Amino acid sequence: MGGPKCRVFVLLLAGLVFIPSAFGQSNAIRLTADLREAPRRIFHASLELPVKPGPLTLLYPKWIPGEHAPDGPIADLVGLKLSANGKTIPWRRDEVDMFMFHIDVPAGVSTLEATYDYLSPASGEGFSAGPTADQMLAVLEWNLVVLYPSGSPTDSLIYQASIHLPQGWKFATALTLEKQNAEEISFAPVSLTTLVDSPVLTGQNFRSIALAPEVKPPHRLNIAADSVAALAISEEQIAAYSRLVREAGALFGARHYDHYDFLVSLTNYFYPNGLEHHQSSDDRVAERTFINSDQEETSNSLLSHEFTHSWNGKYRRPAGLVTSDFEQPMKGDLLWIYEGLTQYIGEFLSARSGLRTPEDYREALARIAGHLDRPGRSWRSLEDTAVAAQLLYDASRNWESWRRSVDFYDEGWLIWLDADILIRQQSHGQKSLDDFCRRFYGPPDSNPKLGPYTLDDVIAALNATLPYDWRGFFNARVYEINPHPPVGGIERAGWQLVFNDQENMVMRVRETVDESLDLSFSLGMTVQTATGEENGRLADVIPGMPAADAGLAPGMKLISVNGRGFTPGALHEAIAETRDTNRPIVITADNGGFVLTYNLQYHGGERYPHLLRNNSQPDLLSDTLKPLTSRGNAK
Ligand SMILES: [Zn+2]
Repeated sequence: MGGPKCRVFVLLLAGLVFIPSAFGQSNAIRLTADLREAPRRIFHASLELPVKPGPLTLLYPKWIPGEHAPDGPIADLVGLKLSANGKTIPWRRDEVDMFMFHIDVPAGVSTLEATYDYLSPASGEGFSAGPTADQMLAVLEWNLVVLYPSGSPTDSLIYQASIHLPQGWKFATALTLEKQNAEEISFAPVSLTTLVDSPVLTGQNFRSIALAPEVKPPHRLNIAADSVAALAISEEQIAAYSRLVREAGALFGARHYDHYDFLVSLTNYFYPNGLEHHQSSDDRVAERTFINSDQEETSNSLLSHEFTHSWNGKYRRPAGLVTSDFEQPMKGDLLWIYEGLTQYIGEFLSARSGLRTPEDYREALARIAGHLDRPGRSWRSLEDTAVAAQLLYDASRNWESWRRSVDFYDEGWLIWLDADILIRQQSHGQKSLDDFCRRFYGPPDSNPKLGPYTLDDVIAALNATLPYDWRGFFNARVYEINPHPPVGGIERAGWQLVFNDQENMVMRVRETVDESLDLSFSLGMTVQTATGEENGRLADVIPGMPAADAGLAPGMKLISVNGRGFTPGALHEAIAETRDTNRPIVITADNGGFVLTYNLQYHGGERYPHLLRNNSQPDLLSDTLKPLTSRGNAK
């Protein structure tokens, strides 16, 4: 299934080149994932592992690449049974490491068989641990269903994987198809590293679209959706995603993959998110993303972000995130480069490709610049949010402004914009961060390979682009504690962060799509507005702002505003009216069954962030958004 025959041929060749000759298929570990019960959220798996008699330890992946955390969903691995030569073999979980199973392989046994199930949750957040199957589609990230023997790097373990799918379901993956019949789909052997890096998207309603067909290697946009209607991506959107392929090629000047597959699942049952892989990305968005402009707005830089990771994250990666297997801890201290620079590039590539307008880009930038100005900055550096990423991804939204979150994404956008503008200014327009990207991630073209980097490597490449005190630049912005976010890049680019009562376009859309009320810049709180029990629940309250000063706290539930039952409209009206009165906003809220009244002293009206043009300086921000390829042309 999937692409035209010529592509399969190309992939087979590439696969042959990359399979070390020492690993014939006879030594390969056979893994079968049976997704025929995916709509019931249960994946069956079986494993055949060549073994020798004696002690053996099997591991379930703990540290998941791209998730930067030890969050492999081990609690949902169930039904584990081991056998050999028709006899049951007992196992015992390690008492300390929950991802480790100890076995004593009896004499005379050369193949161990394992069967087990993975239970996909029906709701909730999380990535590989989150929902990954519904009635109409599924995403198989192989780390969910794989066990592997300890003691060998995952690069040297060879897996021969196959899948069973529900009747009529189609699929796409970066893996090379080897054999397919009505019963089973088999893939060419790959290392365990590559297998876990090559998810399968499958579903009943499916489309596979060639992007920028003149570009080699080939790129495909694969879509599985909960409805046929949701597959109706427009020709204009396809053209924009084709431009993304060309713009990325023009930016980096080289590609480091044999082909690239976007694997897009359109469903409201998955947690919206993306996970990068070297030759594909697992892109999860709302069902109507391609047919509803508001939904599209909230994810119009997701694919460009995940695509950028093929260069920054997969081809080149901070050394602390390069590990020999999924058991070894990862160090996240350079995530402000891995994720932060990817965020910056993904956002401008989205604008350069026409997936978003420059105005939309500026509204999004204003929103994050405003949001980053939080009291949590007073106690922890940006680097600490990166080091502690493994805690922060899953941390509560409650008191997020005091805790800080995975700020290295959005603050990375500000810092790398700052670096880009600095290079453009100091070189009098001769150089930009684009030159650094070509130098660091660029030629020559290659097959998938990995080059680890350190901060020194990044600084050296920046110095080769423009000699400057880059270490001091990053020390001041990343490693030191800063009470306010680094908006210097915006200002030197000819724009200014301002606040007024005009609604921020990106925030307006998110208010509807995310079902939350973002009053961060007026009362200093965010309110959930989904219908049902959670309607009116405070998610965050910002210390030092009016809601917090009045005594409100996250977790409380709004009941009334100025005597009227709480609705988003009533609260917006109460805020707007504060400009004309000295009276406080009077809120009643339920705090675990106790109902109290809170008086909010606030008189600033509605307040939203925007970027305002400063005409005394050249508009360098718009320069960063100009496409490198002329529209409609090839790379
Ligand atoms: Zn990312």
